[in-house]
Amino acid sequence: MSQNEKTLTPKLIKKLWLAFVLLVLLMGSSYIFITGYFANKYSQETTQRLNADVAHHVIAEKFKDASPFLEDGSVNKPLFGDLMHDMMAVNQSIEVYLLNESGDVLYSVVLDHGDKSSIKTVSLAPIQSFIKNKGERFVLGDDPRNPGEQKIFSAAPYSVDGRNGYMYIVLAGKKFQEISDNLMGQYFAKLGIGATFLTMLFSLVIGLMAIWFLTKNLRLITQTVRKFHDGDLEARIADPQDSDIEVFAKSFNEMADSIVGNMDKMKSVDHLRRELIANVSHDLRTPLAILKGYIETLQIKNDTLSEEQKKEYLQITHDNVDKLSNLVNQLFEYSKLEAEQVTPVKEPFSITELSHDLIAKFRVLAEQKQIELQLDNPQENCMVFADVSLVERALQNLIENALKYTQANGKVTLSLQKKGKNVEINITDTGTGIPVNEQPFIFDRYKQVDKSAKKHGVGLGLAIVKKIMDLHDTTITVLSKPKEGSSFIFNLPAYQI
Ligand code: ADP
Repeated sequence: MSQNEKTLTPKLIKKLWLAFVLLVLLMGSSYIFITGYFANKYSQETTQRLNADVAHHVIAEKFKDASPFLEDGSVNKPLFGDLMHDMMAVNQSIEVYLLNESGDVLYSVVLDHGDKSSIKTVSLAPIQSFIKNKGERFVLGDDPRNPGEQKIFSAAPYSVDGRNGYMYIVLAGKKFQEISDNLMGQYFAKLGIGATFLTMLFSLVIGLMAIWFLTKNLRLITQTVRKFHDGDLEARIADPQDSDIEVFAKSFNEMADSIVGNMDKMKSVDHLRRELIANVSHDLRTPLAILKGYIETLQIKNDTLSEEQKKEYLQITHDNVDKLSNLVNQLFEYSKLEAEQVTPVKEPFSITELSHDLIAKFRVLAEQKQIELQLDNPQENCMVFADVSLVERALQNLIENALKYTQANGKVTLSLQKKGKNVEINITDTGTGIPVNEQPFIFDRYKQVDKSAKKHGVGLGLAIVKKIMDLHDTTITVLSKPKEGSSFIFNLPAYQI
């Protein structure tokens, strides 16, 4: 037995064994009881059939020469003494009774020897049934020596000197009973031991096989679980639908799949986190180094620098401080969203108004970059049900990107359109576009299509947008063609006034 099998649910096997042993004992004792009962009945029925005519013969033989009654009406005791003597010589187990027609015991040799507890009247119904069926049917009658007990008998009617009655012969008398009980006890003991031993032997073989078959699937599952536990993540139960414990086998496979899936997810999350930290520290270092360089130059060469140069250097430091604070803000925002610390506070608000405000906010920047920025809103006023500040943040990131990746003389359009129960928001630009193979990854944090474009941002803008969409149970799609431009489209539930 291998280590695996040894540790396999010993409790279960113990229980199976216990149930099995109990079953065997129960089967053994029922078997002995049933066999004993029928063996006894068989023996009694055979004896009764064999001796069915005894009573008839006694009457025919003994009463032809002498009457069973004396002249004074009393029982002819010597005749019966004689009769009993003859009969006992052949068969000691029989007991002869002379009954009147009401079943009263008129005489019995055995009874004469004194048996105080004996009954004086025998029930006639079994006797009449016996006579009617000519002794061919198994019937038990009263045992005068043992009130309450039923015995096999032979009976025949007599009619002598105008007196009627029955000759009643108990075939399995006290003697028979004693011998029978004794023998039965011995047989029972032998039969019991033999039958139980044989049953145990067969059951042991069958039981071992049954337990082996029953626990076969369990062993297989335990082995697979152990393999999985030992690091073999590929370990699965083959053909779980064929297993006797299909639900268990399937559940294990599903559990293993989900564990592996979660591990993969965690690995990729971990990988992205490391990438994020590496990239963020790089992005923090660059502006910090620039800042340090320019501040040092201003400190050392303050006297030799022209006013023009000083202004330029200060502008550069200012730009880098902006960049740094932007990065830190985005990181803070993103980590809050990722840690699920943000709960959207949804309320009805006018997305049209919000769009107007945002267009106004970005107009100066657009003009600086010579980009046409416009709001395309056919509806007068579109109301949505969402978190206003989160939606503002998402739109801001999308407009910023559109302006960032669009060249001079390009165009950025924010359009709102009511579609059924939703309002569709579309930010379209005529900018650089995104290569098709990169499009699926742009919403992953810290992915920049063109690494040289890093100077533009930190790669968290769209990841933040994606998280905001998730919080509103909506999705964002991107339609983009390189050199032609991009469209970012998402829906928000419309609010009916
Ligand atoms: P970044 O701070 O680098 O802009 P984002 O998460 O906002 O980070 O965007 C991820 C990347 O997706 C960008 O680096 C850019 O390559 C691409 N991208 C996003 N918006 C646009 C757009 N409107 N046009 C072209 N490329 C875009």
